[in-house]
Amino acid sequence: MSDMRDVLTGLDRYEEFLEKLDVEIRRMNDYRIALIYSDIKYFKYINDTYGYKSGDKLLKEFASQVTEDNAYLLCAARVYSDNIVMAVRLDNDVTNEEFRDFIQRQNLEMEDTFREKYMSARLKFCTGISIISKGDRSLDPATAVSNANLARKVAKEMEDTEVVLFDSKMIEGIKKEVEITSSLTSAIGKGEFIVYYQPKVATDTMKLIGAEALVRWRKPDGKFIYPDEFIPLIERSGQIVELDYFVYREVFSFIAKRLEEGKDIVPISVNVSRAHLNKMGILSYVQDLFEEYQIPPHFIEFELTESIYIENTAKALALVEGLHNMGTKVSMDDFGSGYSSLNLLSRLPIDIIKLDKVFLKDDDIDNHLRENDKIIISCVIDMAKRLRITSLCEGVETPEQSDYLSQIGCEIQQGYYFSRPIPQFEFEEFINENSYEQEMLIAD
Ligand code: C2E
Ligand code: CA
Ligand code: CA
Repeated sequence: MSDMRDVLTGLDRYEEFLEKLDVEIRRMNDYRIALIYSDIKYFKYINDTYGYKSGDKLLKEFASQVTEDNAYLLCAARVYSDNIVMAVRLDNDVTNEEFRDFIQRQNLEMEDTFREKYMSARLKFCTGISIISKGDRSLDPATAVSNANLARKVAKEMEDTEVVLFDSKMIEGIKKEVEITSSLTSAIGKGEFIVYYQPKVATDTMKLIGAEALVRWRKPDGKFIYPDEFIPLIERSGQIVELDYFVYREVFSFIAKRLEEGKDIVPISVNVSRAHLNKMGILSYVQDLFEEYQIPPHFIEFELTESIYIENTAKALALVEGLHNMGTKVSMDDFGSGYSSLNLLSRLPIDIIKLDKVFLKDDDIDNHLRENDKIIISCVIDMAKRLRITSLCEGVETPEQSDYLSQIGCEIQQGYYFSRPIPQFEFEEFINENSYEQEMLIAD
């Protein structure tokens, strides 16, 4: 018998578990089977900090807590590392949601005990549940486990929830995610990503004063995928770093080309994903680009969203300072989009605040901004002025909005009213037609 068991936890080996589960699924009659797939969040942290012995002990204890004296238990196994799966009998009078809440309470209790014992405030369980009912008799056990595991992964990404019920919609989402993340690198190589440019206009002259680089994914069939669809996915996988670098290189080479040709060019801003905070390779990458392309630093600006500053102020500060030291400007993007970062403004060396487009969204039928939004926008712009930070409003779509921003002294405007994001060749025509604001360029 002993070779069928996992040495550390005493649970079944996974292969054995699948065979048992197969039998249980066939045998099931007036009850359902719940598959509970759990792992320990930050398990690696415990291993690294307290050593493998502690990690092993924790796992062993975890396994025995969930299985011992459990009258409903059908079978349980360690899949690998800290991943434990168990099948329990679920009576028909218990709803799926009730069962999920029960497991959630059980997890919280275990966390309390373990946190004290292992001195780890971060210790947390992540659990996915898939329910097998009579109608699913033909379900292959491995698929049932992978469904529960999928739910666990969803749970892992959530902040507050740690137990999630499997839902067949998750499969579609994952398929799409896998499709996108697995094709990303080759898509960059095949030139499927294109950089578009959206002009920015100086309020006092109504002339071109800069542009923002925004990436587009054009699939081989000509279909465009917009950043909102793929950026959150590749941000999770960390691949956004690679894509951002691609965008930066495109922008550097575009500016260098214009300068070489002796043509006009304006400063161009690029977006910085939150994923850079973990790697920080961005500073040396940008440094290398400056050496390679030899363009003056004031032609490049970096946009970091407000949420980045809030998530990790210390790292964000280091990043902003690093970029500043190279002579580039940094802006706080999406300002006011949900977090409150007013307190950070005085502490961070920010050059520009970009007011989020939500402020301009609440027009009434006559395209007039709501009174309350007006008050907020004008106060933010006033505050920016006093802090000597340049103010920019994005999402300007109507002449009324643009007029109002002029009235209250917002310095730069960006939005469909002036231009949508356009491909490079069109942007070059745009520059040629709109002589740019020389003064502001020389100022720095
Ligand atoms: P963002 O940085 O806030 O960029 C502004 C978004 O607002 C762009 O959407 C732009 O097309 C859109 N926009 C501009 N003017 C208007 C307007 O008048 N009305 C409305 N309703 N929308 C307007 P887009 O290009 O779809 O990009 C969405 C987001 O994806 C960006 O938000 C940015 O966070 C991210 N993103 C885009 N390109 C990159 C990139 O190269 N790297 C990274 N890390 N993120 C990027
Ligand atoms: Ca931006
Ligand atoms: Ca923005």
